[in-house]
Amino acid sequence: MTKSASEGAALAPELLAKYEPVIGLEVHVQLLTKTKIFCGCSTRFGDPPNTNVCPVCLGLPGTLPVLNKRAVEMAMRASLALHCTVQERSRFARKNYFYPDLPKGYQISQYELPLATGGWLEIEHDGAKKRIGITRLHLEEDAAKNLHEGFSQSAQKAYIDYNRCGTPLTEIVSEPDIRTPPEAHAYLTTLRQILLYTGVSDCNMEEGSLRCDANVSVRQRGSDEFGTKVEVKNLNSFRYLQKALEYEIERHIGVLEGGGRISQETRLWNQISGRTESMRTKEKAHDYRYFPEPHLLPVHISAAWREEVLRTLPELPEAKRARFVNSYGITPYDVELLTATRTLSEYFEDVVAAGAPGKAASNWILNELIGLLNDKKKPLHDSPPAAALAELLKMIESKQITAGIGKRVFAAMFESGRTAAEIVAAEGLGARVSDSVIEQAAREVIAKNLDNVAKFKAGNEGVFKFFVGQVMRATRGQANPQAVNDILRRLLS
Ligand SMILES: [Zn+2]
Repeated sequence: MTKSASEGAALAPELLAKYEPVIGLEVHVQLLTKTKIFCGCSTRFGDPPNTNVCPVCLGLPGTLPVLNKRAVEMAMRASLALHCTVQERSRFARKNYFYPDLPKGYQISQYELPLATGGWLEIEHDGAKKRIGITRLHLEEDAAKNLHEGFSQSAQKAYIDYNRCGTPLTEIVSEPDIRTPPEAHAYLTTLRQILLYTGVSDCNMEEGSLRCDANVSVRQRGSDEFGTKVEVKNLNSFRYLQKALEYEIERHIGVLEGGGRISQETRLWNQISGRTESMRTKEKAHDYRYFPEPHLLPVHISAAWREEVLRTLPELPEAKRARFVNSYGITPYDVELLTATRTLSEYFEDVVAAGAPGKAASNWILNELIGLLNDKKKPLHDSPPAAALAELLKMIESKQITAGIGKRVFAAMFESGRTAAEIVAAEGLGARVSDSVIEQAAREVIAKNLDNVAKFKAGNEGVFKFFVGQVMRATRGQANPQAVNDILRRLLS
């Protein structure tokens, strides 16, 4: 565990080992609907402030909310992908509090009867698999956004952008099953990947589509009672999540070891100071005076609707990884990389479907393609069509060109959009002699010229040209010079 900035010396490892952290995460996810949850306003990010608003999302008197069916469907997709039970009947409630970003004076959320309960997801950390329980998943509306920078009078005033007010959110609450900051990281990574695969959210943390709060406490190892928990807010990157948890765990242990008590409160992660700071003592739930939302009917989800949503779920990352390992003989590590996003995994399968061998397609995508995309700072959809890459890989497999030439062809393909066959023909790169014929010729040349082999091995690099010339002559100039070079280097080394 790292030392926390300006908090004095880090705690001794044996002190840390005495305690067990208990962590649960609450993740808010913006659902990828075109319109808001209770009105028809657009949810588009980045529009000029206060242009996507109407009397409903501004909370004007006399307006009535109408539930967006698509938002319910999205939350159902997330629920089913997380093995939750989608409740036949759930209900919206008012969570009452006043804040300028909440013009109605209450947030419409779900409280006693959430949309879904009792799921889990499986994380993998340090080679071990572990199930983390999901307590509940519910629907709610987002608040507006306070803007403290970028306006002429920002020093004196706060500004509010109501475009975000009413954007559909789902809140996913985990069981307190997480035990270390790296497990928390793995949980959020796995959750994000599932939400991206199912198309439920774009999970863009910078734009606030995925926000994370953590409940954290510590207890002496072996105890089955929970310690006093603290809620840490504002964990808007994977790094902050891990840092804030590390800081908070050490703080708890330090307080307890010093004979103090942890007070139940909400704290904020301050990324500049690298510490958590007390924000407010924890409100009790009844401070919000929850009551059923009188303007909305309970949500009824029929078995048929649930089945229909279940049918449209794509293959989930975990299942896809297992299938890739079994069907293509690729290492679990490479499969992990290939399935990092749904688009990449689908591109890979398109290349294989177009006739390329699985292993070669995997190697080529993970090394050549990703390398070129990174170099050129291009997104995956700027890649050559899957069929074009498959054609190239088939040419290499059938020894029409060497792997070395293949790389040159691929780079040219990437730049020009021409096919591998066009490039090979135009640049005369094709070999009319197979690698095995070249190797046979090279072995014969080497066997007949052992004195030159000795000279080469003694460091006379000039002799190498002699060998190339001999092999080219033996193959009547029909061999690919690059292949001849590669094979000779291998045999002579
Ligand atoms: Zn609206």
